[in-house]
Amino acid sequence: MAGLGRAGQCLFVIAQLALTYSAMSEPAPEPDDTGEEAPGLRKIIHVDMDAFFASVEQRDEPALRGLPIAVGGDGPRGVLTTCSYEARKFGCRSAMPSVTAKRLCPDLIFRPPRFAVYNEVSRQVRDIFLDYTPHVEPLSLDEAFLDVTEDLKGIGSATRIAELIRARIKEETGLTASAGVSYNKFLAKLASDQNKPDGLCVIRPGEGADFVAKLPVRRFFGIGPKGAEKMAALGIETGADLALCDIAYLRRHFGSQADYLYRAARGIDLRRVKANRPRKSVGAERTLDKDISSGSALRDVLARIIEITWKRIESSKSEGRTVTLKLKHADFSQLTRARSLPRPVAGQAEFASIGHALLDEVLPLAQPVRLVGLTLSALEEEEPPQAPVGGPSQGTLPF
Ligand SMILES: [Mg+2]
Repeated sequence: MAGLGRAGQCLFVIAQLALTYSAMSEPAPEPDDTGEEAPGLRKIIHVDMDAFFASVEQRDEPALRGLPIAVGGDGPRGVLTTCSYEARKFGCRSAMPSVTAKRLCPDLIFRPPRFAVYNEVSRQVRDIFLDYTPHVEPLSLDEAFLDVTEDLKGIGSATRIAELIRARIKEETGLTASAGVSYNKFLAKLASDQNKPDGLCVIRPGEGADFVAKLPVRRFFGIGPKGAEKMAALGIETGADLALCDIAYLRRHFGSQADYLYRAARGIDLRRVKANRPRKSVGAERTLDKDISSGSALRDVLARIIEITWKRIESSKSEGRTVTLKLKHADFSQLTRARSLPRPVAGQAEFASIGHALLDEVLPLAQPVRLVGLTLSALEEEEPPQAPVGGPSQGTLPF
């Protein structure tokens, strides 16, 4: 970027933000998902990190905690990607022009986005999800749907799984997430929004239509500000109003979205959780409380990561040939070392010895590290099929 000049840099930042936006904006639900319908009644969890980018900044810079902060550019054309809950009290919102946000909250503190860090945390969180189910559909860096209809770990209820996931996210990343538990994606997403931040909400079978009836339609997934305006003009303010509209009326006014809206107003959503990113590696990484450079301290950290990773490898029944060690320095530069075997790694002992050998290769370190990770890749694992509910093995996981 050195040669770009100020205008060029500005454009670069805007382009980067625009990219983030398109990645983060809510995809409009597909109106007619024939052939993609989830079989039977399912248990779906929607997990959504709270004020994600802003919370990461407050985590990494403790002086920012408790203060109104925004992530984004503070220039005349800047836009907020996220802001902290303290800033939201002033009316600041995601996607708001920074100029407007500063008018609402003159003390607003801006930080530029650090996407490399957000990506790293996102991966950490996704690895936690994958410990409970292979059916994970990420919607953006900070939210995902999980289908936990099959209780792989014998935990006993979908609500309990959601609580365990929230606790682990807090423990392993220092950040809070909210979760919604329900029997379809539409309701699970509404539920995760209900008790934010750091909240949980469960909508049980039979409760969906009532829950939706009371809600303003602007909270429905896929109805943006424009859509909500259009509905308001037609006298549709709540789910109950929407439920009064017949399908022909909805088709006339909302075209291809009509089927989705008709079902949504009744708490029905047939879309399945699409695990669209088959796992290519299994691993774990830890951001350290403080940067370390001592070999013995790093070996301790690595030993713990080996334990965690190997549990994940076992529970996902993965086999892989390549072990990769990753170290991230205090200045975020990264160092990786990998070793591949001609056959799958045989067990935890071999996995551990390769991991430690890779660490020994890079010791002593030129500078302290902030993150240590270890992964197994070149996997020979298949994504398991999504079993229909009611089979002999499961189907009774309570909410
Ligand atoms: Mg979020």
